[in-house]
Amino acid sequence: MNGNHLADKLAQTGNLSDEELTEVLLSEDPALGGYLAAKAREVRERVYGKDVYIRGLIEFTNYCRNNCYYCGIRSGNAHADRYRLDEEEILSSCSSGYALGFRTFVLQGGEDPYFTDERMISIVSAIKKNWPDCAVTLSVGEREKESYQKLFDAGADRYLLRHETADPGHYRMLHPEAMSFEHRMQCLQNLREIGYQVGCGMMVGSPGQRAEHLLKDLRFLQEFRPEMVGIGPFIPHRETKYADYEAGSVNLTLRLLSVIRLLLPEVLLPATTALGTVDPKGREKGILAGANVVMPNLSPTGVREKYLLYDNKICTGDEAAECIRCLTARISGTGYRIVKSRGDHITEDSFDNASDTLMPEVEGATALGTDGTALPQDKV
Ligand code: SAH
Repeated sequence: MNGNHLADKLAQTGNLSDEELTEVLLSEDPALGGYLAAKAREVRERVYGKDVYIRGLIEFTNYCRNNCYYCGIRSGNAHADRYRLDEEEILSSCSSGYALGFRTFVLQGGEDPYFTDERMISIVSAIKKNWPDCAVTLSVGEREKESYQKLFDAGADRYLLRHETADPGHYRMLHPEAMSFEHRMQCLQNLREIGYQVGCGMMVGSPGQRAEHLLKDLRFLQEFRPEMVGIGPFIPHRETKYADYEAGSVNLTLRLLSVIRLLLPEVLLPATTALGTVDPKGREKGILAGANVVMPNLSPTGVREKYLLYDNKICTGDEAAECIRCLTARISGTGYRIVKSRGDHITEDSFDNASDTLMPEVEGATALGTDGTALPQDKV
């Protein structure tokens, strides 16, 4: 039987039973992905229209005290070429980003003890002072609640901390003993209590992942109701013990994006760089599956090749201006449009999401295939 009735039910009721969700996750029916994507686009357009928000990603340190087994910048990788940006370099990336239309800056890095609360406070407050109309998102891993509070008080608006997996046994397979599932989950609770817009998420197809784990991830998302969800396929890195594992599936990632959009209609959902790495049209397909955010790289080109979480990462050679030009063209090709806006989560008391289109909408570019993949070749 085809699974479209499940997509209809999910769209109408915002939920499915465990058995039904598992059927959607395991489905081999190619039409189901396309049908789910169409339902997800309806929902995202009702909430966010055709707007796609951009976040300028500044990867400011690849030093990390952790040794997550899947990650290329894990502490145990002696071959990683380590770097950190100083405050001036970070502000200079923000400055070029602002001129290009970015109104959110995401500071992401390994858990680098060099970036004490004092240094982070100085960076966050300088960004907020120079560009008060911008949002600052932090993605620097697990810290104490007091530290999260200080960074929030300094002006940070949002925090990305993927939960990685909602199953404690699976978490143990992916992380060394020194790290704990409970602590990561506690961090997410703390961030929420402090008042951040919070993002969590997981890799798709990470080593040892089964459908029952993804089901738990979805249930966790429903319960926690994050403002943002970051998901992307797992991609092996040659200097990890999972070097020979297969990358996560593009189609499963797309199906999950659609399901997450239908479970959490207002969620901010990026089409990630990892998705663009495993498929040359991955980010466009992600947008067509219900995503509404892209995160172009704003890091100085000199360090980009060093922030290698996984092999073959895209966009490591391009200037920021080139990245935004390329992405703008790609997104226009889907019929959606990149806008100049903070792009806050829509809630009853949300900020004004008024936005300008960064580039004129391309008329007539909305001819979407039913599987959400029928983009003209010349848009690649
Ligand atoms: N230190 C920060 C940022 C981590 S990097 C933190 O702990 O949150 C951001 C994300 O990249 C991770 O949360 C992980 O989900 C993802 N990632 C790491 N290695 C990856 C790999 N090999 N393939 C795909 N995604 C990966």
